[in-house]
Amino acid sequence: MHLRTLKDFDLKGKKVFLRLDLNVPVKNGVIKDDTRIREALPTIKYILEHTHKVAIASHLGRPDGEVDLNYSLEPVGLRLAELLQREVVFVNDYVKEPYDQVLGQVDPQQFVLLENLRFNAGETKNDPDFCRLLAKGVDLYVNDAFGTAHRAHASTVGVAELLDPERRAAGFLMEKEIQALTSILHHPEAPFTVVMGGAKVSDKIAVILSLLNRCNHLIIGGAMAYTFLKYKGVNVGASKVEADRMDLVETIFRNAEARRVQIHLPLDHGCASTFKEDAVREDIAEQSIPGSLMGLDIGPKTVNAYSQVIAKSKTVFWNGPMGVFEWKAFAQGTMDIARAVAACAGRTVVGGGDSVSAVNQAGVSSKISHVSTGGGAALEFLEGRTLPGIKVLLK
Ligand code: AMP
Repeated sequence: MHLRTLKDFDLKGKKVFLRLDLNVPVKNGVIKDDTRIREALPTIKYILEHTHKVAIASHLGRPDGEVDLNYSLEPVGLRLAELLQREVVFVNDYVKEPYDQVLGQVDPQQFVLLENLRFNAGETKNDPDFCRLLAKGVDLYVNDAFGTAHRAHASTVGVAELLDPERRAAGFLMEKEIQALTSILHHPEAPFTVVMGGAKVSDKIAVILSLLNRCNHLIIGGAMAYTFLKYKGVNVGASKVEADRMDLVETIFRNAEARRVQIHLPLDHGCASTFKEDAVREDIAEQSIPGSLMGLDIGPKTVNAYSQVIAKSKTVFWNGPMGVFEWKAFAQGTMDIARAVAACAGRTVVGGGDSVSAVNQAGVSSKISHVSTGGGAALEFLEGRTLPGIKVLLK
């Protein structure tokens, strides 16, 4: 099965529905970070070189099917117009006024942007009427929103299915994500190290089991490390533990042993006596944590050990922070691991919202081979599933 891509199309004069991920942080009408808008530019520019009849669609936030102007795409339209040096024709209500007529009338210096798809309840429900409305008059469907490819919504699946398969394609960003994650899943060069952090083992179990089939080292950090340590009989004090999910940890150890994957757990910790941002950090230089304390970060011995494994790797995948990195006193371990991944000479892929913020915060994102734009979508892809938004683009 191959991905049908933008370059397979003859775009000349065609009417294009372009699904992008323009879900950027906006506060009081001001865009706080335009990375996602800039990342969408190569696909938009390529399409505009061939046809100006393009309707761009995206979601922004979770307005839950109601019009809520805090989530309007209007500021995004203005930023896009600035970056593209073209005029934006903003379509507020395409339910009342079908936008294909607008597409027929725009002039070559313009592009069309539809208001937030999620102002309509039909978007997340993949409602057939809403899909028909979005697909009306469209010649070609292009999806470049990898971050929502794991959701079967109207704009990611339903609209595509209303057009013949040869009239659907992936944009450049979607193509890049799929290539990078496929190389991790199917051809990782050994030694391959997976670095997993974050809150819960139960949230990541499927991706861990999938990657255990492929990796040589599994490094564990974040709150989930305490469930692993507790399973091993180590005292974890008042740390967060999923006491009722020890079965998952047992499955992971059993699979790792069968496949000769080495599991690495924290050797020391940054602790506190309360779960609060202003809590004072207390470093515990051994694996066992005294009763009243909770582990909120990995310690320096652990950073050193993990960094050595990462440095020797030819492939690294990292998801999830090593501690409560949102709080300054407990961010050190995550920042150090971000730098260690960046310093690795092998192929490095970072996926998931928090680890992406961590590499940005550490100022090392340009040194990572691929920083995935899709958190949930990237993890589901690495579980080995065919995402619904990708399935409709295969030939
Ligand atoms: P996830 O979305 O599963 O990757 O989890 C990320 C969250 O895990 C972040 O909000 C972190 O603050 C949290 N986290 C990481 N380490 C710890 C820890 N040791 N104790 C409590 N929460 C943690």
